Amino acid sequence: MSDIVYIFDTTLRDGEQSPGATMNQQEKVRLARQLESLGVDIIEAGFPAASQGDFEAVQAIAAGVNDIQVAGLCRTMPGDIDRAWNAVKDAKNPRIHTFIATSDIHMEFKLRKSREQVLEMTEAAVKQAVKHTSNVEFSAEDASRSDWEFLARVVATAIKAGATTINIPDTVGYAQPQEFGELIAYLLENVSDSHKAIFSVHCHNDLGLAVANTLAAIKAGARQAEVTLSGIGERAGNTSLEQVVMNLASRPDFYGLNCGVDTERLFPSCRLLSTIIGQPIPPYQPIIGNNAFAHESGIHQDGMLKNRLTYEIMTPASVGRKGTDIVIGKHSGRHALKGKVEELGYKLADEQLAVVFEAVKALADKKEHIFDEDVEALVLEKIFRMSDQYVLKDLIVTTGTGSIPPNAAICMTVNGEEKKVSSFGAGPIDAVFNAVDELTGLEPTLERFQINAITGGSDAQGAVTVRVEESGVKAVGRGAHEDVITASAMAYVNAMNRLAKMKEEVRECATL
Ligand SMILES: [Zn+2]
Repeated sequence: MSDIVYIFDTTLRDGEQSPGATMNQQEKVRLARQLESLGVDIIEAGFPAASQGDFEAVQAIAAGVNDIQVAGLCRTMPGDIDRAWNAVKDAKNPRIHTFIATSDIHMEFKLRKSREQVLEMTEAAVKQAVKHTSNVEFSAEDASRSDWEFLARVVATAIKAGATTINIPDTVGYAQPQEFGELIAYLLENVSDSHKAIFSVHCHNDLGLAVANTLAAIKAGARQAEVTLSGIGERAGNTSLEQVVMNLASRPDFYGLNCGVDTERLFPSCRLLSTIIGQPIPPYQPIIGNNAFAHESGIHQDGMLKNRLTYEIMTPASVGRKGTDIVIGKHSGRHALKGKVEELGYKLADEQLAVVFEAVKALADKKEHIFDEDVEALVLEKIFRMSDQYVLKDLIVTTGTGSIPPNAAICMTVNGEEKKVSSFGAGPIDAVFNAVDELTGLEPTLERFQINAITGGSDAQGAVTVRVEESGVKAVGRGAHEDVITASAMAYVNAMNRLAKMKEEVRECATL
């Protein structure tokens, strides 16, 4: 059996489906390029039949990357399969990923199909996909709760029809590591021609076992892991890419397996995702959290000073956590910025670079040191915006103590028309949000409000993330500015734009 484990990243499909993690097309393409440079083997770019927007985003990703395999997800329905193919076919290495549920509970209550019908649909779907490409993956949704013998028949049918990757999902996060490993071993043993396909697993973290289940399956012979950056995904999330990769990398004695991921790009990749979706990385998160390498206790520190290996099983540098360097100074030219932007993974047109250059210069006037994170935040802020229905033009806020409540005067364009309003609030940020509500006519509930300093120092840019909710639709917005009230206004207006857009678009979700 091969000693290569293929890394299949589904941040852009399963991860993006999680509440508040919606990305626009430019952001998806940027993240896809990051995943390619990280060294993952396959990216699942989306579920093209979900909506026109999803279809176009998958097309843009397929066209925006180089050699990496690009998968499009589809149900076993003929229309879905053709739609997925049309979305990914321009990629250098396209893959069709089709799925159907195989557990009794899903077949009876969701599909309303018999076992025989599911077998027929599996065969027909894989055969149809194979007409487009030989790179076909088949998934048995809710495999971990399926009857093992029946599951083996479904898998054998898919392989016979031409599937080259067989994915066994633990869709509801129900499996236990030992049991899940045994299931993979059982299938490898009992499915005729199992050697003709690569076995894959896709786990959910409802019981906190996604990584453990994935590793148990790999130990048992699975050779593809479906993962997301930081483990983002619906409910409790998916299997975390960085945790699977660092387990393989840290324990070669136990696994003896390799994957193509460049571990030094793990942290920058997770940080980029966090910036894009506006969800900070929890401090205690393994590998990428701020505390993951902080040794506070005296005994640990003493041991660390004598020999790092006493308490450190991997180094911060090995996962890409290097000290931040000052990257751009006040006197750096456009050429230096271009190099930096490219190093960070962005391909900007000259006029876009000019916009970022002006923003960096303006920031350098107010802030002593400009770091990688600052440049990245400005690119995302200035270039990667949705075409905005609401645009913040000007803002004046007064606040203080005494009997006059804080006040915000705001000028915005709403669908191209300039509007102004002034509002009071409990605090200055509340006043700003009230004014924005008044101008947009939206009145969402503010579910979360968070300010982070992008870098250290009291002159750091403030990165604000807000999450809003209106009639069940949730949207996240972010803004970065050296003034936190302005950053808050930008984040809130950004969330309003996303909310308006999401309310327009009806989208189907794929559960896998
Ligand atoms: Zn899933």
